[in-house]
This record gives sequence, C-alpha cells and structure tokens, in this order.
Amino acid sequence: MIETQRRLRVAILGCTGSIGTQALDVCRKHADKLEIVALTAHSSTAALVAAAREFGVPWVGIADASHGSDPILQELPVGTRLCVGEGPCAELGVVSEADCVVLAVVGFAGIEAAQASIKAGKTVAYANKESIVCGGDLLMPMLEPGQLIPVDSEHSAIFQCLVGEDHDEVRRLWLTCSGGPFYSMSREELRGVTAARALAHPTWKMGAKITIDCATLMNKGLEVLEAHHLFDVPIDDIRVLVHRQSRIHSMVEFSDGSVKAQLGPSDMRIAIQYGMSYPERWAAPCEPQDWCLEPPLTFGEADENAFGCLRLAREAGRAGGTLPCVMNAANEVANAAFRAGACGFLDVERIVGSVMEQSRVERVDTLEQLRECDARSREIAREVLAEV
Ligand code: NDP
Ligand code: MG
Repeated sequence: MIETQRRLRVAILGCTGSIGTQALDVCRKHADKLEIVALTAHSSTAALVAAAREFGVPWVGIADASHGSDPILQELPVGTRLCVGEGPCAELGVVSEADCVVLAVVGFAGIEAAQASIKAGKTVAYANKESIVCGGDLLMPMLEPGQLIPVDSEHSAIFQCLVGEDHDEVRRLWLTCSGGPFYSMSREELRGVTAARALAHPTWKMGAKITIDCATLMNKGLEVLEAHHLFDVPIDDIRVLVHRQSRIHSMVEFSDGSVKAQLGPSDMRIAIQYGMSYPERWAAPCEPQDWCLEPPLTFGEADENAFGCLRLAREAGRAGGTLPCVMNAANEVANAAFRAGACGFLDVERIVGSVMEQSRVERVDTLEQLRECDARSREIAREVLAEV
C-alpha cells in the first residue's frame, strides 16, 4: 500500500480509446492523487502526444510499429522516452515506475501487457476482458489478493458487493445487461440490421468493437466468462439479467437469500476510478443521480435463441480450456467484418459457431499456446467469412 502523501503512479495502456480517455479524465480530476508515468496507444499518435504533453508523461509506447516515426512524435515533451512495437509496449507497465496499470487495450492483444503487469506485481485496473476470457486459467493463479480490480462495470459492481463477504456464501451472480440496441427483435428482423444501427447503443458510449459485441450479446457472453474467472463461480451460477435502464450494474445473491446490488449513473469513470482508488473511495467523477426522478427499474431474461453468441459463449465457458480463446478470436474477426460491411449481423454467430466446431479443445498451459490458438482460430474464421 502506498503512503497517503505520495501520488499513485499510473500507466494507462490503450489511453486513446473510450476507457483510456475516461481514465485520463479521472487523472485530470484527481491530479492531487494520481500521477501518470506511462501511456500507450496502437496507432493514434496525435492523441497520445497530446495526452503526454498535457500530463508531462515520462514514458510513451506505440504498439503499431508503422506509426513509430509519425512526424507528430517530434512534439513529445523533452525527455519523454518512446517505445515502439508490441513487445516493448507490453513491457512498459513493468519498466515504468507505475504502481497501477490501467489495462484499457481492446482484444486479445492486451494479454501480453496483462501478464507482464501481473508478473511485475503491479495493481491492475483491468478493463481488457478478452484477455481474461482467453487467459484466465493462466492469469488468475498469478494474482495476489487485491492485485486485480475489475473495471468492467458489471464486474466492478460484483467486486464491490463482495467486499467483506465470504466466497463460500455466494450462491449466484446476477450480471445485468442493457439488452443492446436490438432488444426484443426477432431473428428475421436481426438478419437485416446494420453496423451503423448497432453503433447507436442505448445507454453506454464505448469503443466500436465492444459496441458491436453489446448488440450481438457476445459482450455479455464474454462477461459471463470474465466473471467465472474473476470470482471463481461456475458458469451456470452466473445469470444474465436484462435490465434496460443500466442503473443496477450487477448483483450478488448469497446463501441466505440476501441479494446485494451496486447502482449508479451509467458512467464508466466511476468504475475506472474505483479501479485506482480501491480500497478508498474518492469524490465522484460525474454528476450524482437524483433517484427520485428515475424511471422504474425493469428486469427480464436474455433471449439466447435470438442472440446465439450468448449461448455459444456459455458453451465455450462450460468446455473451458482453449475454447474461449477460439471463440474470442473468431468473434474479433467476425465483429470487425460486420463493422466493415463484409458480413451480416447473424453471420457473426455463424462464424463463431463454425470456428468453435472445427477446433479441438486443449488445456491451457502457456501464453505461447494461446497465441497460436488465437492465430489459428483467426485463420479459420477468415476462411468461414470468405464463404458467407
Ligand atoms: P477502444 O477501441 O475505444 O480503445 C482501445 C485502445 O486500445 C486504444 O487506445 C487503442 O489504440 C488501443 N489498442 C488497440 N489495439 C491495440 C493493440 N493491438 N495493441 C495495443 N493497443 C491497442 O476500446 P474501449 O476503450 O471501448 O475498450 C477497451 C477494453 O475495455 C476492451 O477490452 C473492452 O471490452 C473493455 N471495456 C470497455 C468499456 C467501454 O465503456 N468502452 C466498458 C467495459 C469494458 P489506438 O487508439 O491507437 O487504436
Ligand atoms: Mg460491461
């Protein structure tokens, strides 16, 4: 634990994205408590340089080497050190003097940085759900208690509900789900929906990949697997609860029938901030909610027949091993293809299901094995995509 006088030294990996820029906002608000010591991006060098200048950051990293000599990098503050390429960026959380790494990279690509940060004993404010889904079997045993603080709103909620509780007394987790922009649509209607419509999410403003995952409900599927790893609860004791208003961020049901929920505005900065402030609570990063003015809260069941990605994710979670990695890789390919207009909405689950069927499940032993599994599954997904 750091002394209260010293600011927490933070590295934000994926600082140019939706979670990353909101993490910057939290640092802006709590400049007396947080000091940014490292920032990374994939290719958005202009935004990276702007943030490095604003916060006077000593280390920056660019994962995509083809952007390593963008002219804008001349404008980095004097003395700022620059790393280019996937490898050095993964090491950045380690080489920097960070106490806490905000892992806000999207996709499987975040797994190297996750492993490096955990190994180095950093506290991780963890948003990059795909790496937990794929690598949970490897990463979870490496963690010290309290080392990983979830940032995903549902998992932050569950984490908060579990403070002071005994794991053996947890009966079930209730993972809330907005239902996405296509809630209650039939398969026939879903067939014709476009990426532009999917990108209009009703309650959260997020990066493009996760927004499409919310529309297919693959996001909720990934979150079931994420919760399974983070909280060591069997897949079938994690229930998805459609709650359109996104005010209850998730709930924990205990053995005595009591249910604890965490509520709040639909603003990711609260969960991001808690990822850095835990076990403390700091002043709110957003306006408080007037609960007297809120519409009624509603609950319902997710339709796994209409939204097959959720069903496939549960299947992958039950099988375990490398199957979640296969599923995730196929989804990353299909999700990008749908965004690019290269396939239809229902093709996403078709591609994921087909790649899962074609793959053999192995126990997860090494990161190298996961990398190979990810690459192979992407290859198969591209072949399936070419046929749709
Ligand atoms: P964005 O797409 O908005 O941002 C992704 C960030 O990662 C960017 O900084 C991007 O850099 C960087 N990045 C992309 N690819 C790579 C790579 N190969 N190597 C290193 N860095 C890379 O995503 P979000 O912020 O929406 O999501 C980030 C993670 O948080 C995801 O795993 C998502 O599931 C999770 N999450 C997000 C929520 C949200 O509200 N957005 C809510 C809950 C969880 P560049 O800008 O240069 O491309
Ligand atoms: Mg979530």
